[in-house]
Amino acid sequence: MELISSITEMARITANWRNADLQVGLAPTMGYLHEGHLSLTNRAKMENDKVVASIFVNPLQFGPKEDFSRYPRDLEKDLMLLESAGVDAVFHPTSQEMYPENFNASVEVLGITDVLEGAQRPGHFKGVTTVVAKLFNIVSPHRAYFGQKDAQQVAVIKKMVRDLNFPLEIIICPTLREADGLAMSSRNVYLNADERKAATVLYHALATAKAAFENGSRQGNALRKIMDAVISSEPLAKTDYVSAANPENLREYDGLIPTGYGVLLSMAVRFGSTRLIDNFQL
Ligand code: AMP
Repeated sequence: MELISSITEMARITANWRNADLQVGLAPTMGYLHEGHLSLTNRAKMENDKVVASIFVNPLQFGPKEDFSRYPRDLEKDLMLLESAGVDAVFHPTSQEMYPENFNASVEVLGITDVLEGAQRPGHFKGVTTVVAKLFNIVSPHRAYFGQKDAQQVAVIKKMVRDLNFPLEIIICPTLREADGLAMSSRNVYLNADERKAATVLYHALATAKAAFENGSRQGNALRKIMDAVISSEPLAKTDYVSAANPENLREYDGLIPTGYGVLLSMAVRFGSTRLIDNFQL
């Protein structure tokens, strides 16, 4: 497995692979890897000849009061995991390499970035689309792998690829969970023992709303109320938002969800200073 920090070098390697008619898959990450990340590289391995994983804690997508500087990092362990997973190359640039002094461009998707996570984290998705566009241009993958865990990110990246004609396919992988339902996340490490127990409330809220939906509860506001009630029953949990939205345009369903339409149930919940997100797409 190669560890590459230079953009030119990374681009040269993947260009060689493409010239040799090899299919290339990319799994972008911010590191501190868990099985959720590895499910992306495993899927990429099945569908491509060569797999690149990127590890880059992207400063552009963190707000000034967010956890950029304390975001967990463990490069050595990450490299061990990726090596055992059979990844061919790891792209791990510095911030200076990605954003040199005169860097002055951005990629922004409008319309679906000002709700949900975008409403709570101004500038977040502009940071995400800018770094992902750079990664796509540097690595030129045939396929790029993302987790359903970050449902709005998935919608935003798909829209960017469609609107700007990036010549690649976006593959979405299901959310991997701990045995008690908590979605795997690098940020789970911030939780103390009590918060960790309380954090299963996200899964319970989603599961309760899903059961209600399957039993015929098809009102957006009723589903939000159900999720809110479950989260409120947990004293350590503070709701940022709960949502029952159209999965394509992310607009909230107020009344009846029309037959044949899906619904994205999603939420952000705080435990102390830790903010967790989760979702079910029905
Ligand atoms: P991150 O390192 O948090 O930026 O995540 C990198 C990629 O892994 C993103 O596409 C995430 O959606 C995906 N991911 C994170 N957690 C999970 C999970 N529990 N299951 C599946 N994919 C995940």
